[in-house]
Amino acid sequence: MGLLSLGTPLAWSDARELSEHVRIHGIEQFLAVWRRLRDRQGDAALWGDELEYMVVVLDPEQKTARLSLRQGEILQRLSQCCCSDVPGACPADMPTFHPEYGRYMIESTPGRPFGVAGAELLRVERDMLVRRRLTRERLRPHEVPMTIGSFPRLGVTDTAFTDPPHEARGAASHSLFLPDEIINTHVRFPTLTANIRQRRGSKVRINVPIFHDTHTPKPFVDPTIPWDRHLFPEDIEAREGAAWPDHIYMDAMGFGMGCCCMQVTFQAASIDEARKLHDQLMPLTPLFLAVTASTPAYRGYLADVDARWNIISAAVDDRTPVERGEAPFEAASTPGAHNSHTQARRLRKSRYDSSDSYLQVYDEARVCNDVAIEVNEYVQQHLRDAGVDEVLTAHMAHLFVRDPLVIFSENIDLDDNTSVDHFENLQSTNWQTMRFKPPPPSGSIGWRVEFRPMEIQLTDFENAAFSVCITLLTRVILEFGVDWYMPVSLIDENIQRAQQRDAIHTQRFHFRCGDAPTTREYTLAELFHGTSNFPGLLPLVHRYLETQPLEAKQRATLNEYLDLIGARADGRLMTNAAFIRQFVRGHPAYRYDSVVSEEINYDLLSTLDAIERGEKEAPGLLPAGYAARRQGI
Ligand code: GLU
Ligand code: MG
Repeated sequence: MGLLSLGTPLAWSDARELSEHVRIHGIEQFLAVWRRLRDRQGDAALWGDELEYMVVVLDPEQKTARLSLRQGEILQRLSQCCCSDVPGACPADMPTFHPEYGRYMIESTPGRPFGVAGAELLRVERDMLVRRRLTRERLRPHEVPMTIGSFPRLGVTDTAFTDPPHEARGAASHSLFLPDEIINTHVRFPTLTANIRQRRGSKVRINVPIFHDTHTPKPFVDPTIPWDRHLFPEDIEAREGAAWPDHIYMDAMGFGMGCCCMQVTFQAASIDEARKLHDQLMPLTPLFLAVTASTPAYRGYLADVDARWNIISAAVDDRTPVERGEAPFEAASTPGAHNSHTQARRLRKSRYDSSDSYLQVYDEARVCNDVAIEVNEYVQQHLRDAGVDEVLTAHMAHLFVRDPLVIFSENIDLDDNTSVDHFENLQSTNWQTMRFKPPPPSGSIGWRVEFRPMEIQLTDFENAAFSVCITLLTRVILEFGVDWYMPVSLIDENIQRAQQRDAIHTQRFHFRCGDAPTTREYTLAELFHGTSNFPGLLPLVHRYLETQPLEAKQRATLNEYLDLIGARADGRLMTNAAFIRQFVRGHPAYRYDSVVSEEINYDLLSTLDAIERGEKEAPGLLPAGYAARRQGI
């Protein structure tokens, strides 16, 4: 999740004094790249995914599932993988493994980007499986790399949930529930955690509605919160309103950034093509969040949502009370508030949230940019003066309303023609559903867009299916010239609907209908399969595939992927979230009180692991024959 500079990070009190410096030079760095590479043309259609894993220790004797905190050692071992570990591979094929926020997390990316031709798309699942195998081979006997979105018992207080166990209430997060030891040990991560808290002026506040089952108390008042004792200052916030009744309360960045997802990045032929892809993929972000929903449990409870989005959003919400609209402007001098260079202002959203504006210079894009976005005036003026168009200017000036969170003392004065560190500092901590990515200064790769909403899926069959489907949709967008512009405010609304429990069956989504920029509300089944006034995403993909020279076997595999997504979208198969919820509620030890006990958690995770390995079928979740297919690869 972003740039890992080495060095000494500044505490918030020092970092905030330098925030204007980072913005001024960050935008200069962007301009240097833009001037040099805006006319770059003809980059190949290449893409790649990022998969995030949790390393879980499954102890069959104790019947416990705990998070392994061995990220450092595991990554060290993974960095030594070589071609002899993968039959037929050359060095360029070797996947790479990266650290993530949680010290129990690993991220993988393919060694070589994928193309968009049939043979290339068929490489994806095998590549993902190789990454999983390489990881698994470097773990201890009971450790398993799991592609699950949220660890259901992260932050419980009745038993340990990490291996080894640690005490909460660390210096970085002050959390009642999460020890700082779950944070990646690279200084960037504890600093990010502490600086978000300090800038905000309190701990982050995450309240997820609890799933009210038949025996869940009403109102639900979480018994694991220390309501009546406050031995520590950090206990007070929960008592004084931070923790809401009928909600699962969480108070640390790790509850959000400790979730896993799958992101896909596409290289475009030119900056204009990147802007077009950015815009046309934006309305798809909620739809793919809903069909990939996989995170129904937090801190030992079933939630009334199926997806992680709002949780991460709140987990990194560094806005001050004034910016959040919870305090009057006169309060701008509260702890953590702005430095003297920045005016206090309201900010509608957290740094992690849905994208706020389209990027194409195009009348329809302009009309559909219906949300008034906050901009940094200096950046806006500077980009205008440099000749950047209004739309791109607004996008960048909007990203630059944030403060840089982590600044390294060794990295303050940089050459703005060769470095993009200051630009990336802001860019990589604006976690939106889409990210528009300029080429690196070296120009070794082109303009790119990243599709970021999807939740990670249990199996690589599913992960391949969803990433290949989005890739094929980029082809549909470019080849068929579709026009899916719709008001940004309605996409925002869709992002909320996408997270609702069982959104597939209960929600409708705004989507563009016909030629005029009018919208209607559709079910996911209608959007994916088509209806009288919308051709449907999957039929469009099939129509595109008809134009491609594909071997029968390639087409058959692609059809398996598209069929899986079709079945998820219309409810013939469950989402990962629905499956997990059903497993918990069907467990003999479940008391219909929303609690995911240690025993249930162990059985759930060991069952999910057996399904992934193809040792157990998962009717209702995966197509019949998945197990045999998995074992045959
Ligand atoms: N794990 C985060 C998520 O679930 C994303 C972190 C990243 O940007 O890599 O969205
Ligand atoms: Mg990541």
